[in-house]
Amino acid sequence: MDTQKAIHIYQYSERIKSELISNEIVHFVKDYGASRQLNTKWDKPLIGFADAGDSLFPKLKELVGPTHAMPQDLLPDAQTVIAYFLPFEKKIPKTNRRNPYASKEWVFAYIETNQLIIDINNRISETLSKKGFNTFLLPPTHNFDTNTLISDWSHKHIAYIAGLGKFGTHHLLITDKGCCGRLGSVVTNAQIDATKRTKKEYCLSKFKDICKVCVKKCVNEALKVDTFDRQKCYKMLLENAEIFKKEGLADVCGKCISIVPCSYQNPVEKLSKIEPREFRTRRSKSFQTRNA
Ligand code: SF4
Ligand code: SF4
Repeated sequence: MDTQKAIHIYQYSERIKSELISNEIVHFVKDYGASRQLNTKWDKPLIGFADAGDSLFPKLKELVGPTHAMPQDLLPDAQTVIAYFLPFEKKIPKTNRRNPYASKEWVFAYIETNQLIIDINNRISETLSKKGFNTFLLPPTHNFDTNTLISDWSHKHIAYIAGLGKFGTHHLLITDKGCCGRLGSVVTNAQIDATKRTKKEYCLSKFKDICKVCVKKCVNEALKVDTFDRQKCYKMLLENAEIFKKEGLADVCGKCISIVPCSYQNPVEKLSKIEPREFRTRRSKSFQTRNA
C-alpha cells in the first residue's frame, strides 16, 4: 500500500470527538480577553456539527442563492462543517435597545467578534492539522454580493443545519442562548459526529402567533411579519457604517434583536414551562429566512 493511501485510511478511521473542538472553542473564548484590551465580553459559546453530506446543503442553492457554496466546493473531501455561536454578554444588547442608530458597544462587539471568529478558526485549524486533517476557514462576514445581497456562505443556515437553533420572524437564527451574538464556521475533512437537529420551535410568533416585537422594533421598515426587504435593511447598516467608520467596518444595526424575547434565550422553552400541555402539541416549521 502506498504511503498516501495509508495516511488517507488512517485519517478516516479516526473520528474526532466533538468535545475536543467544543472545549477548544469554549476555552479559547474564555481566555481571549485576558491578553487584549477589548470592549466586548462573550458568554459561553454554543457549538454544533453538520455532516458535510447532509441533504439540507443542496437546498441552500434555492433558499439562499444559486451561488451558495457546498462544503465540497471549499474542501473536496469535506466530512464535517463546524458551526458555533458566540453570544454577546447581556449588557451589550441593552445599550442597543433605543435610538435609531447602533450603539458604540454594539459596533465594537461586531468588529471585535469578527476578529475573534478569525482567531477561533485559526485555532481549530491548528488543532485539526496536528491530527492530520485539513480545514477551510470561512470569513466571519462580507461574503455576499453587495448589489443582490445574496451570500455565498450563509453562516446562519449552516448553523441551522448543525443543529444550533431555528429561525425567528426576524429571519435570524435563535439559539438556546438567543440571537444576540455572531456565528462562525469551518469546513474540515475530519469526521465528527453530527449534532441532532431538534424538532422544537424557537420563535413565539411561529409557535403561537404572538410576540412580533422584532417587527415593531425595526427602524427602517425593512422587517414585516411576512416579508423582509433586505435592501432597506442594508441601507440602515450602511448608515451605521458611515457614522462609525472611524472604528472600522461596522455595517450593523441589530435593533430588531436588541431586548426582545429571543435576545438571550429560546422564549418558547420559557413559555413551555408556563404552558406545558400546549407546548407538547406544537411542532417546528422553520428552515427558511432572509439572506446575509
Ligand atoms: S422577537 Fe418574538 S416574533 Fe420576533 S423572532 Fe423573537 S420570538 Fe420571534
Ligand atoms: S437590522 Fe434590518 S431588520 Fe433589523 S431593525 Fe435594523 S433595519 Fe430593521
